[in-house]
Amino acid sequence: MKRALITGITGQDGSLLAELLLDKGYTVFGLARQESWYRPNCASHLAGKVEIIFGDVTEGVDIANAVQEAAPDEIYNLASQSRPGESWARAPETLMVNGLAAIRLFEAVRHNRPAARVYHASSSEMFGRQCGSDRQDENTSFNPVNPYAAAKVYAHHMASIYRDSYKLYITSGILFNHESERRPLHFLTQKVAYGAACASLGIVNSPDRNERGRPIVEGGRLALGNLEIARDWGYAPDFVRAMWMILQQEEPEDFVIGTGQLHTLKQLCEAAYQSVGCDWQRCVFSDPVLFRPLEPGHILADPSKAMDLLGWRPTVSFEEMVRRMVQAQIAHLRPLVDSGDV
Ligand code: NAP
Repeated sequence: MKRALITGITGQDGSLLAELLLDKGYTVFGLARQESWYRPNCASHLAGKVEIIFGDVTEGVDIANAVQEAAPDEIYNLASQSRPGESWARAPETLMVNGLAAIRLFEAVRHNRPAARVYHASSSEMFGRQCGSDRQDENTSFNPVNPYAAAKVYAHHMASIYRDSYKLYITSGILFNHESERRPLHFLTQKVAYGAACASLGIVNSPDRNERGRPIVEGGRLALGNLEIARDWGYAPDFVRAMWMILQQEEPEDFVIGTGQLHTLKQLCEAAYQSVGCDWQRCVFSDPVLFRPLEPGHILADPSKAMDLLGWRPTVSFEEMVRRMVQAQIAHLRPLVDSGDV
């Protein structure tokens, strides 16, 4: 029976990946911060099925301990300060978690478990502002435009340096945006799903609040930033399947994973509100306060290598993903409406 260690198991991808690996018969270990594990998180329902090792990835000793204790065949390094928009305000922490922690992990593998296969979570944010390239693949150069992406670029380069220098099996998956019902509410896609759910249920002032302490939906309207931004958005369960497939390759290689389809935030709003029969233009407005200091360009995946070598394909369409997210938010909010709490 194979053993896997997942950092970031309490997050969206970590919890979905843990389910996938459990289904495949793996013994799954998760590195999690103690305070996170004891509050509701994406992996709470896996308590008793996965083995949790407490630790913080910014502490080298915690990572080394997790690698020794789990003795994994496969390691998935997913822990991250994963909000690019917030990374300006938390730049030093972002560098520690998204950049330096990766080296601590590679060192722990080198000294304690050199035969383990390592998947490292790189990001399409690393491509940043692209000039002249319509689509990005494994050979596209990086041009990060925020602290999150800069830290990811650093870790990405260190992954290949450790792979080549020490002949370790380390791969990076350069994943484009992927969403699911498990996205926290402060992520853009989930905010839109939440806004559409409120519109559908007739909620004018939502019970959940945004980063500024205001109801996410206030006076029947959802505030978003720049509606013209565009992303290659896919469905997270498809993407964690790709992570596993990457580690089953004979040789360690990096892969771009994305749907190859671009949608604007406007289109996201349209799909979400339309799925519940509402008009997004009456319910959403663009607030310049929410614009990022710098936006990546229109980054769009060329996933040809993953499709050819791994046989990977996305299975859930953009519209279906958005519909599922909206329905999950309706299921979350309806009891509050029924009980008269909102
Ligand atoms: P997520 O839901 O935000 O999960 C991040 C995880 O990292 C959480 O479990 C969090 O634990 C953990 N973490 C953060 N700081 C930590 C620390 N100091 N010590 C230990 N654990 C820590 O992110 P995700 O969407 O699942 O993404 C997984 C990985 O893929 C991340 O590396 C992300 O940057 C990358 N990625 C994601 C996307 C995407 O669209 N989802 C796209 C490209 C790349 P707590 O519960 O303690 O906070």
